[in-house]
Amino acid sequence: MIRRETVLVSSTPRGSLAEPVVGFDQAREMAGSLATPLLVLSPVRLRENVEVLRRGLPGIKIYYAMKANPSTEILSLLNGHVDGIDVASSGEVSAAEQAGFAVDRLIHSHPVKRESDIRESVRLGISWFVFDNTDEIRKLARHAPGCNLLLRVAIRNSNCVVDLSSKFGASREDVVSLLLAARHSGLNVRGIAFHVGSQCRDPIVYARALKLIGEIFEKGRELGLALDTLDVGGGFPVSYRESLPSVTEFCKVVSGGCRELQKAGVTVLCEPGRCISGDSATLITRVTGRALRDGIPWYYVDDGVYGAFSGRLFDMCDYRIISDHSGPRRKCVVAGPTCDSIDVVSRDQILPELDIGDILLVPGMGAYTNASATSFNGFEPPRLVVLGDDRLDVGKPESDVTRRFAVG
Ligand SMILES: *Cc1c(COP(=O)(O)O)cnc(C)c1O
Repeated sequence: MIRRETVLVSSTPRGSLAEPVVGFDQAREMAGSLATPLLVLSPVRLRENVEVLRRGLPGIKIYYAMKANPSTEILSLLNGHVDGIDVASSGEVSAAEQAGFAVDRLIHSHPVKRESDIRESVRLGISWFVFDNTDEIRKLARHAPGCNLLLRVAIRNSNCVVDLSSKFGASREDVVSLLLAARHSGLNVRGIAFHVGSQCRDPIVYARALKLIGEIFEKGRELGLALDTLDVGGGFPVSYRESLPSVTEFCKVVSGGCRELQKAGVTVLCEPGRCISGDSATLITRVTGRALRDGIPWYYVDDGVYGAFSGRLFDMCDYRIISDHSGPRRKCVVAGPTCDSIDVVSRDQILPELDIGDILLVPGMGAYTNASATSFNGFEPPRLVVLGDDRLDVGKPESDVTRRFAVG
């Protein structure tokens, strides 16, 4: 993953920052009966995020990219709301199946797979795969001869926090030869996939990508390849500390850019991860220690970069940390619980003076957080707590169920 800093080029309206799914009173109640750190998940927020995509992307199928957050609770809550799951390994195939998704609703989108993974995924019943090079054609022809294939195309994008095209995707010049080579090997090439990169900051990136994709479909028609499927990937952002264009703004650009292809009978699907689970979970963490170092307050909390804050490192994510303490605010350092010096969550939070035992809320902790957490140094990652008991409270607003919560 490569971090790039670029100025936004378009003047698209901005969305609001991710908000906590619990208030401080409720958070204190939870922290009193269950030990912190806790990752509180809102089923309502999770499903609302899918609804925003449904409204914004008419006719486009939604596959949740489970690498963002593979919790069984999240997968189960999404079942019946999304069209399927985007998986990247046979391990994820099994996890999605266990959460109730039939294999015909899964797409294996990893462009470079272990042969054992292809074999196992085929054995489990996967019939859609992605490739971006000739070795992969050979592997798939051997282990998955009857499957449907999408060619992953690289999209140059300097305006995403996580640039995925630096690792995957066929370059524009190789697209035609790869499509033909796959067809020549008897594989069922159905279309094109791309991913602009995660935490994309500007919808114009999709407009440019879809223009290129339109040209590729046109070329495919000329060559008689009959491509009928387009996977526009994920990448829609969450506004963590910086207000970015809203998901609805991204949807406008994507649905506009796909319209001609849809009219021509192409099936379009997307695979968002972050914008579905990202703001659906809030971390409750507690201040466990304090120090004044070089005149700057340091607060030690009970979750850090080896826990759910692992997104700080792997996802290059900068989270907003909220306190309800009153009093003057000043710049401080928030550090995690382990003995490792890399375990610093933030060096530039502006917070009031905190006491030991204080509760802090961190919104937007539902994607690329607990998915990559460890229990390094003996500190367990946060426990997932689902707001309400969904089996008992289907369809009820969350305000009715704030006093009950289920532990996952
Ligand atoms: C990570 C990933 C996604 C999800 O990306 P988000 O930025 O979380 O929406 C979708 N598709 C593929 C192939 C991915 O690798």
